[in-house]
Amino acid sequence: MKFVLVSGGVISGVGKGIIASSTGLLLKTIGLTVTTIKIDGYINIDAGTMAPTEHGEVYVTDDGGEMDLDIGNYERYLLTTLTRDHNITTGKVYQQVIEKERRGDYLGKTVQVVPHVTGAIQDWIERVAKIPVDESGAEPDVCVIELGGTVGDIECAPFIHALSQLHKRAGRNNFAQIFVSYVPLVGEQKTKPTQRAVSDTRSAGLNPDLIACRCEQPLNEGTIQKIANMCQVEQKQVVAVHNVSTTYHVPMLLNNQKLLDSLDELLDLKSISRPTARIDLGSQMWDQWVGLARGQDHALGTVTIALVGKYTTLHDSYISISKSLEHAAMYCRRKLELVWVDASHLEDETLENSPAEFHKAWHTVCTANAILVPGGFGSRAIEGMIKAITWARTKGVPFLGICLGMQLAVIEYARNIAGIEDAGSEELHPQAKNHAIVYMPEVDKTKLGGTMRLGKHPCIFQPGSEWSKLRALNGSASQIEERHRHRYEVNPSMIDQLEKAGLPFIGKDVKGERMEIIELPDHPWFVGVQFHPEYLSRVLSPSKVFLGFFAAAAGCLDEVTASVNKAK
Ligand code: GLN
Repeated sequence: MKFVLVSGGVISGVGKGIIASSTGLLLKTIGLTVTTIKIDGYINIDAGTMAPTEHGEVYVTDDGGEMDLDIGNYERYLLTTLTRDHNITTGKVYQQVIEKERRGDYLGKTVQVVPHVTGAIQDWIERVAKIPVDESGAEPDVCVIELGGTVGDIECAPFIHALSQLHKRAGRNNFAQIFVSYVPLVGEQKTKPTQRAVSDTRSAGLNPDLIACRCEQPLNEGTIQKIANMCQVEQKQVVAVHNVSTTYHVPMLLNNQKLLDSLDELLDLKSISRPTARIDLGSQMWDQWVGLARGQDHALGTVTIALVGKYTTLHDSYISISKSLEHAAMYCRRKLELVWVDASHLEDETLENSPAEFHKAWHTVCTANAILVPGGFGSRAIEGMIKAITWARTKGVPFLGICLGMQLAVIEYARNIAGIEDAGSEELHPQAKNHAIVYMPEVDKTKLGGTMRLGKHPCIFQPGSEWSKLRALNGSASQIEERHRHRYEVNPSMIDQLEKAGLPFIGKDVKGERMEIIELPDHPWFVGVQFHPEYLSRVLSPSKVFLGFFAAAAGCLDEVTASVNKAK
């Protein structure tokens, strides 16, 4: 097993995840099997209980893990399927060590950060790195490890210690380190923060082989020279990653700087045996990637999507959704213009308190090519979302409701078409008499962490739904599998009434009890899904739900449906 450690300094949030994913992609394009691990220093066991506005979206894996959003980057770039164990947090490691201590497994020893916690981290990495993560079922050749945060963070210390020991354990030619730094432009390109960060990293026990410098504009020759001199590395060890039109160009940027050659020198990649079929697949993957990324530079037009949500202050709250829309846009060769609407601005109260916000928000909704209402929790801004749904339904504007968005579309239909005027959700309208959305019976109401209906479950297309536009994109498949994260569901005792009023539930769970998909006929695209299709959309394999929605907004749904089915 070979490891590539990606750590960072100066500031966080400058694209360590994208650099790590792009590195993984390049390794994959030469036929290697690549896995990834994300380390987070926080004490939380997982991201499940974190507010999206604070930490960004909670990403869900097939096995129902509630993960840091970087795991999403890896799956999207590398077409892999990771597990909850691919995200290591301080909380998880300590939980394991403490459980062992309580069992008496340490045989009377004093349990300490070094060697017990650091040993547990190394064992965890070595165990998880071997798990097959793609269709080949092969044990990975290379594991890319991303260390979250920046190297000076207090929580990182045990991980850094563990990683430097893992370096020793792995041996020569099996461990390479990329350090992501930031070169600010203050009149000129400033190298001092990078020098400091590299020196801190070295004294912490890591020794970067490559220094990837994020910067706004291409790095000057002089800046590269200076970083090399001051950090005692060769010039070719400095990789410049300037801002590019889309992050999908980053793999090409790294490739142009011969990242694979550098990694080959460090890891002796050529010594890894690779079946020819996998090498061919890798090079096809690369051609496809380059084609899609370049296609964006010659897009056929722009499509405006209004995302009407409640966590719009931090765009990372909906990162998988915006990425899924980008995947669909690339497939359709259109440019995506995603506009963020705080749903509370659409409510009458805002008209009274802040008319300018109200009219601005409605102008955005009314001029968008399509409307998306994403998932969420709690009652703030709900009525604003319902109003946006009424607009989309009655004006024939393409609509996609995800999880909460689907539940609200059901409530909207119940109220305005089925004549159930006070229809509501047990979560959002506890006082309402007619709950169209109710608690799922199996959910443990006493705990928040890990108690939702999570992970991958099948969804069966119902007989008689052959007219469905979403179904047409899935060819002859009678079922799909999608990832979930919810506590509430459509009230089974209201289904009949809603169906009679003209709302078809075209997808249900295996038992036919749980409603998964609604779709209105006689509408360009009005689809609500209880699951989260954004967790399974990939750059090279966009989600059909997003593809249909986006293509309807772009006016090319028939063309896209035909091309998807031809490709099969
Ligand atoms: N709050 C809703 C539920 O728990 C929707 C969840 C979501 O959108 N992820 O069912």
